[in-house]
Amino acid sequence: MKFDLNNIVRKNIAKLKAYSSARDEFEEATADMVFLDANENPFQNGVNRYPDPKQQSVKELLSGLKGVPTNQILLGNGSDEVLDLIFRAFCEPKEDNVVFLPPTYGMYGVLAALNNIETKEVFLSDYFDIRVEETLASINENTKIVFLCSPNNPSGNAFSEEKIKAIVEGFDGLVVIDEAYIDFSGQESWLKKLNAYPNLIITQTLSKAFGMAGIRLGVCYASEEIIEVLNRIKPPYNVNELTQQRAKERLLNFEDVQNEIQSILKERANLEKSLKTVSYVSKMYPSDANFILVKVDDANLRYSQLLEKGIVIRNRTTQALCENTLRLTVGTAEENEKLIKALLSISKY
Ligand SMILES: *Cc1c(COP(=O)(O)O)cnc(C)c1O
Repeated sequence: MKFDLNNIVRKNIAKLKAYSSARDEFEEATADMVFLDANENPFQNGVNRYPDPKQQSVKELLSGLKGVPTNQILLGNGSDEVLDLIFRAFCEPKEDNVVFLPPTYGMYGVLAALNNIETKEVFLSDYFDIRVEETLASINENTKIVFLCSPNNPSGNAFSEEKIKAIVEGFDGLVVIDEAYIDFSGQESWLKKLNAYPNLIITQTLSKAFGMAGIRLGVCYASEEIIEVLNRIKPPYNVNELTQQRAKERLLNFEDVQNEIQSILKERANLEKSLKTVSYVSKMYPSDANFILVKVDDANLRYSQLLEKGIVIRNRTTQALCENTLRLTVGTAEENEKLIKALLSISKY
């Protein structure tokens, strides 16, 4: 493989020195130290001090759970910030391009536009699988990143190891695997293969399986070299103190997370069964995530009928290959019952 990070990093970023914050310069705080370095208000209220810019204790807990050393982890204000940092570190505006595979997560396109980066869109197959040859053929010398979302939003399927491997091994640039839904999947995370591929970046989030969309915590795993570049350009205090505290509490209670994942998976199976009884659901796509994509007779009609009954789902009919599809998040048993009841009650229209 010809992958060389020096050829990937944006020229201005390669030369950039990180801002050194007051908290960066004094890491090893002991109890009797007096901190008069950051112009903080000295009266304690739990958040009067700046947060740890390296989020060391959160990373240590994640490291223990995921088996990735802390110097290969970067945290951000949601995956959205993590993905934006990746664009800004590696893509030269008006010069470079990125590849992604619609229908997929809308933020890749938004972030590309925001950063003035050209996009190449290679549609997935009819079964929402990667078309490896077409994807590799779309790459040119200015392609910096290929985004793979697995399990994919909105289709719900995870890509096979073989297909992902073909992209990761077939491309000299960066491959980002967005594993936001990996905890719901039968497929293994690519984290174990992180050290085998210097061009691999894996993003995860606490927003889905971990049940913490409100705190905004996104996670990026990659080589030490890639993480070093991202650390250099991130805002120093990008993950606030409250977020770090709540994340730690949750990570220390990982059994709770696992129990919730198990009940969501059980509910997903129940929901799949019930959806088969809805006459106008013509297709149900297999899900490796906490949502199910279904094809119906008229997505706009069914969407507004459900809305009238107080149930909000996602209408994906305008997305590539998703004509007349609806995306249904798996809720609690009660919520799913309400959904099915509503779906059945409107079937006569
Ligand atoms: C929900 C989701 C995320 C999570 O984004 P956050 O900013 O971490 O909340 C990331 N990627 C995909 C594909 C998603 O669907």
